[in-house]
Amino acid sequence: MKMAIVALLFIYLFVSIFALIFLSVKTYSLQKQIDSLTEFLNESKQEKADETAAESADNDVLVMDKASVEANLADENDTLKVYLTFDDGPSENTNAILDILDDYNVKATFFVCGKTDEKSLEAMKRIVSDGHTIGMHSYSHKYSEIYSSYDAFKTDFSKIENLIYDTTGVEAKYYRFPGGSSNKVANTNMSQFIRYLNDSGIKYFDWNVVSGDATSKAYTSDELVENVMKDVVKYKTSVVLMHDANDKTETVKALPKLIEELQAKGALILPISDDTTLIQHVTLSDDNAN
Ligand code: ZN
Repeated sequence: MKMAIVALLFIYLFVSIFALIFLSVKTYSLQKQIDSLTEFLNESKQEKADETAAESADNDVLVMDKASVEANLADENDTLKVYLTFDDGPSENTNAILDILDDYNVKATFFVCGKTDEKSLEAMKRIVSDGHTIGMHSYSHKYSEIYSSYDAFKTDFSKIENLIYDTTGVEAKYYRFPGGSSNKVANTNMSQFIRYLNDSGIKYFDWNVVSGDATSKAYTSDELVENVMKDVVKYKTSVVLMHDANDKTETVKALPKLIEELQAKGALILPISDDTTLIQHVTLSDDNAN
């Protein structure tokens, strides 16, 4: 009887130890599996990050922010703020434009493209050293390229950002979409590109006043001035669309008269800065919500 009890105890002990070893081995191998699964999940999460950003942006809704348009309507006693912006440069006219701005001691904003000839690089440097704001207007300005995909947009963006930095030392902070944020030419959802700029801390500026220098109608310089003057009176902040391009000689001709008329109205002519009220044709719906 005593022997039987001792034998039973031994068997019990043996089984317990065996079970303990078995469970330890099992736990160890399960832990290893969990670790490798976690690693795998983290890696694929990383890889998917960019894709997801682009895909989720497809679900973003673009809206016109009517409230900010209304808030920008000028009252009689408001001092008008006018931001002259020149797209598409540098060009053969850049120096002439800069000379005129210099004559009147007025600062403006140049949204430049990727031009790398010596003259263009010098023009970019002068824009900065004269105290104007230099912004980005894409590198290639080819809608079919830059708007073809999220990656294509990012690549083009980096090229113009780097060119401006390497040439002038300025980290450009402002972007103007070729065709504007509401353009229909892109034939793709602009929200993914807006999301990219927002995430990169870049502000995009559209315009609320057009000079008309890029329309099919060939306006005279006087008409360009009239086009601007009839609209700037409507807004507290006006961002005026003009072009710095080889064939836009009427724009250059219009500039002295435009500045004089704006100053006669008591308008402040300013370069775009962080204080500038955002003028955007469309924004992401969730940016409006908060
Ligand atoms: Zn353009």
